[in-house]
Amino acid sequence: LNPETFSGDSRAVVDFLTEYYRDVDKYPVRAADLEPGRLRKLLPEAAPEHGEPMEDVLEDVRRDILPGLTHWQSPSFFAFFPMNASAAGFAGEMLSAGLNVVPFMWAASPAAAELETVVVDWMGRLLGLPQRLLFSGGGGGVLQGSTCEAVVCTLAAARDRALGRLGHENIVKLVVYASDQTHVTFQKGARIVGIPPSNFRVVQTSSASGYGLTADAVRGVVDRDVARGLVPLYLCATVGTTGLGAADPVRELGEVARRHGMWLHVDAAYAGSAAICPEFQGYLDGAELADSVSMNPHKWFLTNADCCCLWVANPRELTSALSTDPEYLKNVGTNGTGTPAAIDYKDWQISLSRRFRAIKLWVVLRRYGAGGLRAHIRRHVAAAKWFERAVAADERFEVVVPRKFSLVCFRLRPSRFVGDDGEAVDAMNRELLAAVNASGQTFVTHFVVDGKFVIRLAVGGAMTEMRHVMDVWELLQGKADDVIHRYQL
Ligand code: PLP
Repeated sequence: LNPETFSGDSRAVVDFLTEYYRDVDKYPVRAADLEPGRLRKLLPEAAPEHGEPMEDVLEDVRRDILPGLTHWQSPSFFAFFPMNASAAGFAGEMLSAGLNVVPFMWAASPAAAELETVVVDWMGRLLGLPQRLLFSGGGGGVLQGSTCEAVVCTLAAARDRALGRLGHENIVKLVVYASDQTHVTFQKGARIVGIPPSNFRVVQTSSASGYGLTADAVRGVVDRDVARGLVPLYLCATVGTTGLGAADPVRELGEVARRHGMWLHVDAAYAGSAAICPEFQGYLDGAELADSVSMNPHKWFLTNADCCCLWVANPRELTSALSTDPEYLKNVGTNGTGTPAAIDYKDWQISLSRRFRAIKLWVVLRRYGAGGLRAHIRRHVAAAKWFERAVAADERFEVVVPRKFSLVCFRLRPSRFVGDDGEAVDAMNRELLAAVNASGQTFVTHFVVDGKFVIRLAVGGAMTEMRHVMDVWELLQGKADDVIHRYQL
């Protein structure tokens, strides 16, 4: 690594990105050129034999890559969930990538491992998590790349805790419970850790509970399984579901889990960020009954990808499922004793190598402060509230489920032109969504609930302001006029 080249190339990239962020609202939000294989045709068959100047590389990014990107950082990106980038997140990412240390165990980079223990405790306190999930209260946390990875780790810990009691041959009896709104990663994770696919229970939710999982529904399914000789293993409660932003009642589900010795995981991947505001902390009420909680700062917390916080009440349950102790990693630190002073993070995750994510999250927390981050969340919640009201006030539309955070789910309602014909109403909504996205002015995605096609507007982009939400509403109204007009003919 030549410090001069490093400086020149890095500055060129920063200049390139500065220009990109200045102009990001001018690009079609969703990739304009959707022809599969386009890029392969543009690029050479093989890597160059000799290195090329950075300017040439950036020129190709500008010419060949940018036109094929969906611009997640556009202020008019309302699809899926946000994936925040910020100046502090980028600065933290530069420090992480630039220092490029690998804190898989304390001795491999002591300050990096220790910073992680500090930052996860800071985050846990900001979210109002109970002491028992923090290092300072006997629990602890780790920064992983994604909720998917974190979930596999917790499922492995829950499995080993149960099999330690039951014997390994009883793995076929273990059952995992989730709702029909739970992220699909739990199903994948259960498969990975060896839970028979037929032992993954998808418990139904309904509009009556705002699509939250009720304790009664879980109890019914669990009791049936217990009567058949099966063993309840793991229950997932989600705060801020992917499709609709619903919230499961953590305390009630925690009580069911306790009664049956189940592991309770709280997945707050998206909405966990809102819990830094006291007005949203009620959604995590009962977290003291959880064995683990996770949230993604890389979604709505101004932290560039990737970063997922996972907290566990009993780190030993995690490390006994995941620890390895080969001779070449023997060190003067802990060897898995898991004290906050010296953590071997390799025993808290799947991979050995890992990124120095703590410095990124630390820079975000230092640069914006809790107050700045709360303002960021509240700005989006206020914009989503405005949008929800606007939708509700327009008789052509309906809000499908009351908004809890910054996700609004809505659709064109059945009208006198299409009547109650579900398929025709869905078709109208599909056409509306397609027209809005084809405009290039925004990108919005959909969900299906109770057989209904629903449009989701997820507010949360780091550069998204009220005016962008107002603009997308104007666009939706105009396109709705066109669609409805076609159905009137
Ligand atoms: N859980 C919920 C509620 C989500 O919305 C998502 C992604 O949007 C995930 C889990 C998966 O997160 P990740 O992509 O970090 O694995």
